Amino acid sequence: MPPVAGVPVPEKRPANAPAAEEPKAQPPASNGASDRPVEEKPRGEEQAQPEPPVESEPEPPAVAPTPTPRPDDAGPRTTEPVAQPPPAAPVPPEKPDDARDEKKMLPDPRSADLPADKMPAEEIACRERLKALGVEFEEHKPESDPAIGCAIPYPVVLKTLGGSVAIGPGTELNCAMAEAAARFMVDIVRPAAKSAFGAELKSVSQASAFVCRPRHGTRKLSEHAFGNALDIASFTLSDGKTVEVGPAPPEKEAKFLDEVRKAACGPFKTVLGPGSDADHTRHFHLDLEPRRHGGTFCQ
Ligand SMILES: [Zn+2]
Repeated sequence: MPPVAGVPVPEKRPANAPAAEEPKAQPPASNGASDRPVEEKPRGEEQAQPEPPVESEPEPPAVAPTPTPRPDDAGPRTTEPVAQPPPAAPVPPEKPDDARDEKKMLPDPRSADLPADKMPAEEIACRERLKALGVEFEEHKPESDPAIGCAIPYPVVLKTLGGSVAIGPGTELNCAMAEAAARFMVDIVRPAAKSAFGAELKSVSQASAFVCRPRHGTRKLSEHAFGNALDIASFTLSDGKTVEVGPAPPEKEAKFLDEVRKAACGPFKTVLGPGSDADHTRHFHLDLEPRRHGGTFCQ
């Protein structure tokens, strides 16, 4: 007998193995910014407080490891290692729950700045001016953190400030601030260094540029949160000399630093440094904070 015709042969199924998606690598644990207590210092504690190292703050583990419960009849099961409770569970930093609302940042319209599909003409023009100034830079991906409010839609990372004046590493700024910093170095700092020390300005050491954090002791976002501020810790000259910003520099350096600081007021809208407050004893803070009537705040 011929084989029975018409017996439906089950169609071969495509070997569609249950599309077990590769477990995605866990994204790096968020820096916990949303629930990190805002760094605020109680008044009166401001004397010579060193700036806390915000970036490297270790985060407490989200969940304390639970020790394996030891069976009640822990008789014969001697092969299984008994989990020991952790020596001392890390204590998470106290959360200022009671002051939660007070610590909320004041809204800043710039927090909503997100990149458009196409880079705006003014950003493109700014980059052209940077190139004309001889600034070496790279584009950086947009930054924003709605929880904190920082945003920088078109950041650049500077390698030089023009005229072979190096800066870095990781000097991430918005383009307008980058341009202001480059012009300031070329027009003001370089000639001032030349006349004060007879040497070329070789590099600038920055203490911070874009940083997603609120301003110390206030509810207002720092200009650093918009890549709109640059902290300068020192200037290094072609003869190897380094002029550090500090509370009591030698006379010749003090004169140079004074000159630079005074000239910064105008090109920058905020200028702070030693003598302004405890947070600025070792660097100049320069920013382009928009103020009504184009005012400046130089202290
Ligand atoms: Zn600053």
